[in-house]
Amino acid sequence: MNLIEKSKKHLWLPFTQMKDYDEDPLIIESGEGIKVKDIHGKEYYDAFSSVWLNVHGHRKKELDDAIRAQLDKIAHSTLLGMTNVPATELAEKLVNLAPGPLTRVFYSDSGAEAVEIAVKMAYQYWQNRGRKDKQKFISVKNGYHGDTIGAVSVGSIDLFHQVYGPLMFKGFKMPVPNVYRHETRDPETCRDECLKGLENVLKEHHAEIAGLTIESMVQGAGGMIVMPEGFLSGVRELCTKYDVLMIVDEVATGFGRTGTMFACEHEGVEPDLMAAGKGITGGYLPIAITYATEEIYDAFYDDYEKLKTFFHGHSYTGNQLGCAVAIENLRLFESEKIVEGVSQRSAQLKKRLAELNRLDHVGDVRQLGFMCGIELVLDKKTKRSFPFESRVGYKASLKMRELGLLTRPTGDVVVFMPPLVSTETELEEMVRIMEKAISEVTKKEADRLAQFKE
Ligand code: PLP
Repeated sequence: MNLIEKSKKHLWLPFTQMKDYDEDPLIIESGEGIKVKDIHGKEYYDAFSSVWLNVHGHRKKELDDAIRAQLDKIAHSTLLGMTNVPATELAEKLVNLAPGPLTRVFYSDSGAEAVEIAVKMAYQYWQNRGRKDKQKFISVKNGYHGDTIGAVSVGSIDLFHQVYGPLMFKGFKMPVPNVYRHETRDPETCRDECLKGLENVLKEHHAEIAGLTIESMVQGAGGMIVMPEGFLSGVRELCTKYDVLMIVDEVATGFGRTGTMFACEHEGVEPDLMAAGKGITGGYLPIAITYATEEIYDAFYDDYEKLKTFFHGHSYTGNQLGCAVAIENLRLFESEKIVEGVSQRSAQLKKRLAELNRLDHVGDVRQLGFMCGIELVLDKKTKRSFPFESRVGYKASLKMRELGLLTRPTGDVVVFMPPLVSTETELEEMVRIMEKAISEVTKKEADRLAQFKE
């Protein structure tokens, strides 16, 4: 049996309708720089950073070497009741990078777990402090925080989450400021309306709310919705005012993705708990973290018999290979000025992406740093979407694949999240491929629908 046949016979892939995979299988064999290569030798731009992870490109020598060097010492030992060298060194570096009051690092293996941990910490924080009434969470409509039941409960993307409704814990949802879809298209009006909606819920229910979860500055999987200026800081103010812990999810946005180390720095926001992952190892190994303030940490610190311990941990927590590569990744962030590079090149990217607005079926282009979404619509004037069955986002991504570029859409929003080291020339080449695929696929689909109507 060849590899393709084996993959079809034995694998079940994440977020994948396997019927689609059977029609369009793809197996990656290697990578170099910002490109990956399949088993037939065809090369593709990794235009979504292998699901929003990659920083320095593939097979970065320094990262490869860091893992090899660690392997010569030890691959893994537990963090339950003890620590290891790289996990300890990394924690200090991470705390130095974090917004002010975040002084503690709790390790896990994925973004979903990092959020799940933050939610549990927020809940238990109040329990440990004797505020038994504070048990609920408020989260943002259309938000995404990963796929474990806790993360899904504070998430809100119907397509992914509705089926699990009965399994999820109930909470409050606040509206998201989607400027493109707001009738005024005025960022301030849209922002203020949502903040008002949040304040109304908090005013009435703050005594029973433990925490608020929110993605930082950009709702990623929900369609690359860039929050209007002043929104995240407005949420911070309300959380403080109503004594609700602010849990900021930087899993997608952290580690330079938006042109600052963490996206909440754009507005000087200091969360109480913060989840991060993805780019932390440069896209190499599964390490994630939950940052907490000293105040939260202190609420768990007591004699064992008081039962305030945080009873949570994963077998691979603080894995040495992952932490070693994360340390080298952070060193490269500094020596290669990665964050500054994203910030500079994203200005050029903005100009180039703005040109896509000229296409007949591009409704909106949204961007913060190297986190970009291109929303495809059937009718630009009315912002009417393509019918769900058209799957234009998906079809556009298949066309891009044919043209030598990989990305995955969220619905009809084309996601462009290239590795952070992508050069101006590479960015231009990637946008050119996306432009060609988008115009061809949307025209074909719009023509087909028009014919169908006649
Ligand atoms: N939070 C956000 C904002 C994300 O975008 C994601 C993944 O895309 C997650 C959490 C989940 O991370 P992971 O896939 O590592 O569990």
